[in-house]
Amino acid sequence: MKEENERLRKEKDISDRIVRHPESFITLKDSSPTFYYCTHCWDSNSQLIQLKCDDYYGTFECPHCQMNGINDKERYHVAMQLLETENDMSEILSY
Ligand SMILES: [Zn+2]
Repeated sequence: MKEENERLRKEKDISDRIVRHPESFITLKDSSPTFYYCTHCWDSNSQLIQLKCDDYYGTFECPHCQMNGINDKERYHVAMQLLETENDMSEILSY
C-alpha cells in the first residue's frame, strides 16, 4: 500500500510537469537539457519512455512502441531538401 502511494505520488509529480505537444511527444517543464518522451507510452501505462531523436532529420522514434514523428519541422525540411538536391545531382551525374 505504501509503495502504491509512492508510485501515485511520483506519477502526480510527473503529470504536473508534463507539457504535451501536437506532434505526439512530451517534454517536462523545468528540465534541462530537454528530453522528449513518448505520449503513447505515457497515456497507456504511465511510463516515460525517452524518444530516440534523429538530429539530422529532426525526427523521433519510440524504442518501446515504435511510434514516430517529426519533432523539428525546420530541420526535417532542410534535410529533405538536401536529399532532393542529392538525388538531382546523382541524376545529372548518371548522364
Ligand atoms: Zn512509446
